[in-house]
Amino acid sequence: MLTEENKQGLFTMASGEAAQPFHYAVGLYGSKFLGELRDNHRILGIRCPSCEKVYVPPRQVCGPCYKEMHELVEVATHGKIVSYTILRFQFLDPETGEKKPVPYGYGFFKLEGADNYFQHFMEVPKDESRLYIGARVKAVFSDEKHDSLKVIRHFTLVDDGE
Ligand SMILES: [Zn+2]
Repeated sequence: MLTEENKQGLFTMASGEAAQPFHYAVGLYGSKFLGELRDNHRILGIRCPSCEKVYVPPRQVCGPCYKEMHELVEVATHGKIVSYTILRFQFLDPETGEKKPVPYGYGFFKLEGADNYFQHFMEVPKDESRLYIGARVKAVFSDEKHDSLKVIRHFTLVDDGE
């Protein structure tokens, strides 16, 4: 529930320089998630009290159980590729209004400690054969503070030696 006390920690999302600026509230759990990501580079999920699945980013209700969730838990900033694509066609990035350099990757990742998939940009290595379903990845954080998922610049492959 939104109280006067916890409203102070809420974030909003912004459209940047695109033609149709917008702001919307990301909610209490979304704000805790983005705040922890921005300030401590930690990724928060939330655990269902019934099935014990951990969802990331946190949301209020477990879809299969219809149970309200309250237990925020930290998940790893690394995991494995579940699915991905490599974008090679340039188009306007809705966040910046600029063309994003290609190629770049976009993937779904199973982070350690989470039961669902987290999606984000992914770095494409020169040798693209190194990318495969199940390959280990980790989050690369931006040097800048953002109130959004831009805190994570992208995910990148973890070398086997790491
Ligand atoms: Zn559940």
